[in-house]
Amino acid sequence: MSKQSDRRSVAPLLLLALTLLLSACVAARAAPPAPVTPAPPTMSAATPTVRGAVAPPGPTGGAAPTAVLAPATIATALPATPTPRPPGTPPRVGLQVGHLRSDELPEELARLRASTGARWGSVTEAELNLAIANRVKPLLEAQGVVVDLLPATVPPGYDADAFIAIHADGSISPAARGWKLATPWRTSAASRALMNAVAAAYGPATGLPQDSGGVTFNMKGYYAFSYRRYQHAIARTTPAIIIEMGFMTSAADRAVLFGQPERVARGIADGVLAYLRERDPDDGAALLPPDYPVMRAVAAGAVVRAAPRDDARILLRAGEGARIVPFDKLDGYYQAFVRAGDARVVGWVREDELIATDEQPVFPTPANP
Ligand SMILES: [Zn+2]
Repeated sequence: MSKQSDRRSVAPLLLLALTLLLSACVAARAAPPAPVTPAPPTMSAATPTVRGAVAPPGPTGGAAPTAVLAPATIATALPATPTPRPPGTPPRVGLQVGHLRSDELPEELARLRASTGARWGSVTEAELNLAIANRVKPLLEAQGVVVDLLPATVPPGYDADAFIAIHADGSISPAARGWKLATPWRTSAASRALMNAVAAAYGPATGLPQDSGGVTFNMKGYYAFSYRRYQHAIARTTPAIIIEMGFMTSAADRAVLFGQPERVARGIADGVLAYLRERDPDDGAALLPPDYPVMRAVAAGAVVRAAPRDDARILLRAGEGARIVPFDKLDGYYQAFVRAGDARVVGWVREDELIATDEQPVFPTPANP
């Protein structure tokens, strides 16, 4: 677990303790949580589905408990690499309930077992995430989509038409609020399209503000995206996003997350459905993340800028040989992860200031925000 995620998971608890103390003293505040509490996590028996199978009719009444797939059973049912979909195969979507049963994470992810996420009052993030996922599932199934509800443990090489990791935020600042979305560091065109589609639907559906600029390294480096490091991760070609739906520590956000969960679920489902409608299922290239070599700065050094433009703000001047790990490319610039001393900077570097190497790319340690 990174320092950042430590802070994230502990901070809401500290804040909560403080709030409770204050409430007790002045008897002025209503004790959290809000009246509508998410359904408790379900631990039903696994009902693995195989590719191409038609989904059983899902619950239509909203937050009815749904079976959560046991990782062990689905692991053997799905191939580690994408397989061609026979004509007529319904689209398959994985809804991952962030932090759900994180204590069951496999040995390779043991350091994230204690990563239980945010919390408000007695409501854990996993409970909120599950309550929302349970509402998204029937909305997708009503449109013919096969849905896997996945716990924190992702089946090895999980292969689907879309993977959405559902999370909520917490902060020591009660003013922190809003939602945000991220793709993996190295983003396929499909992941980007999925993110844009959900972003376009989620804001209007929920009325929640976007936490612009709030996307963290921990989101882009989400452990379940890290197919290079872990077996229990999505397949390289599975379009994937992580959504932080809002802050459990914000009263304004809770009014929607807890009070109007149907709007939250509608926002996610509409975005995913729009993506599935608009994509070209035959465009295999759109599924492939870029595979750039690790770069080093040329003798004159490399300038890291805030945007892919020569007049953009300078974030860092990297000296000769500085290690630069690109994850995107635009207009003769690489968007890259640059490490200089203790600083970790993401910015844009001109292509002609870099030399390719045959080193293995190193990204920040995967996290579970
Ligand atoms: Zn989380």
